[in-house]
Amino acid sequence: MPRFKPYDYRQGLMVPLTLEKQLVEGSLEYALHHLIEERIEEAWFEELYANDEVGRPAYSPKLLLKVILFGYSRGIIGSRRLERACKENITFMALACGERPDHSTIAGFVEKLEGRIAAIFSEVLLVCHEEGLLSGTHLSLDGLKLPANASREWSGTFSELRLKAEKLRRKVIEKLAEHRRADRLDKKRAQRGACKAGEGAREKAARQASLQRLRQRAQRIESFLKEEKAKEGARGNEVQSNVTDNDSAKMQTGHGVIQGYNAQALVDERHQIIVHAMASGTGQDHQQLASVLAGAQELLALAALSEELPLTKAKLSADCNYHSEANLQACEEHGVDAYIPDNHFRQRDARFASQERHKFEHREKKGAFGIERFRYNPDKDTYTCPQGKELTCQSASHSTGDGHRYLRYRSKARDCARCPLRRACIARGGRRKSLAIAIGGAAGTRTARMRAKIDTPEARAIYGRRLAIVEPVFANLRSNKRLDRFTYRGRVKVGVQWQLYCLVHNLEKLAHLSRKYGPKRVKSAFGRLSSVLIRLITHLPRLLRPICAFFRPSPLFPLTSFRLSPPHSTVSFSTVSLGVMFQNVVRTGSVRQAGGG
Ligand code: SF4
Repeated sequence: MPRFKPYDYRQGLMVPLTLEKQLVEGSLEYALHHLIEERIEEAWFEELYANDEVGRPAYSPKLLLKVILFGYSRGIIGSRRLERACKENITFMALACGERPDHSTIAGFVEKLEGRIAAIFSEVLLVCHEEGLLSGTHLSLDGLKLPANASREWSGTFSELRLKAEKLRRKVIEKLAEHRRADRLDKKRAQRGACKAGEGAREKAARQASLQRLRQRAQRIESFLKEEKAKEGARGNEVQSNVTDNDSAKMQTGHGVIQGYNAQALVDERHQIIVHAMASGTGQDHQQLASVLAGAQELLALAALSEELPLTKAKLSADCNYHSEANLQACEEHGVDAYIPDNHFRQRDARFASQERHKFEHREKKGAFGIERFRYNPDKDTYTCPQGKELTCQSASHSTGDGHRYLRYRSKARDCARCPLRRACIARGGRRKSLAIAIGGAAGTRTARMRAKIDTPEARAIYGRRLAIVEPVFANLRSNKRLDRFTYRGRVKVGVQWQLYCLVHNLEKLAHLSRKYGPKRVKSAFGRLSSVLIRLITHLPRLLRPICAFFRPSPLFPLTSFRLSPPHSTVSFSTVSLGVMFQNVVRTGSVRQAGGG
């Protein structure tokens, strides 16, 4: 017969607990606690409270801020989940100093952060600078499109929404008639004694509830149409509005069309600190750059860093989506040395000559016969296609964001309808071929100058760093912080939520790298070894670049299988991704060892 240890639930236990000791040195919660205690002042939040003479004392904004930021770092953003965490999780309890704020207090505080988040962000930026984590020499910009807390179903132009409301009203009338018929039938059956009184009450209630839902939907659209104005796009045309969150917009992403926001982050090269973050309801990245630069300038001024980290000394790299005449002008105005390539810069780069996706033939396969396939007829001012059909000029010249002026030539839809080359000639979904012919206006423009600049080896090397600077930041926020959608509604609140995520990213950097708020010493040989390895992997692309440049022409270079000779960026991406993965593994291990959540 086995013997088991006896137990007794009625016994008492004394558990000695010091809240501060739960915040282990070297962890995010430690950095968060000390930084907020030392650098954030309660006075910043004074205007949000009106309980000087009456009313009970409020929870300290510092406690709430710590709980919220730590929750974001663990993917806990719902106020009810944060409330529960403050009762159940020892780290949250320590950060909240044993207080138990309820969900409405937490949600209300996040809403009030709107006017204070810039001050908090700039203070953290200042700490990063004091700790030597900012270089200010190379900034990279990129955007992340995330779904909003709104459905695509509720989107449409005003005429589409009017139609939808009418359709719902018609449905309400039909359902009402159906409902009355069913009521009469029930009454007759009850009079005949075919069923007992009260029978079918459940069906009746369900019918009424569905009718009520339809009415509410129609009312919601009608009141939206009364209160709001139609949204205008960049060209003055009407764009789709959204009944649930009218600041969000429909945008194309790699995974299809979403109703969402475009979150931008400007990242510093040295340790991937986010210098500025903002969210907007515009799917086009190229419309964001000027506001990002203005916002960054403002934030640096707020942190009193404009002189120490001036934008005029910084290089700015951003992908092709930001390439436009207006953006390059904005960079010039801010004195930023920009590296923003156009869409075809890979096709001009000899290092990518062997890559299928950058070849002209590849584009043709996707349905884009280029101008080379068409013959111009100067007498008639038309183009002749490979099938001998004519494309005529359809519009007066118009200019685009890149400073070019274009003329548009189109074929007839009936000519293309049965053409055997149709699939190769016209992009999917098109009915006819359309050619945009540049007719000047580009010589000497900023875009032309940028094309010449980006084709130099030095500029390509600088642009190649972009991937290693900004992409790991988005990888961290999306994968580690589980950021897959915004939960707030409205541009301002979504902006606050995006800045909270970015703050957490910067605080994590401080927790790992800062002398004051980070780990005081490497505790074990494994820790020391892992630090050396992380540094080695992170700096590998930079170390390999001169070797790569030296050996490129030689077929004997032993690492050609590592794809050194084509793009540096491929090398950077793979090695930096490895570095990030390794960092995550080591950090996860150390956080667990330290007792983190
Ligand atoms: S699809 Fe139209 S434009 Fe293209 S080759 Fe055929 S007829 Fe000509």
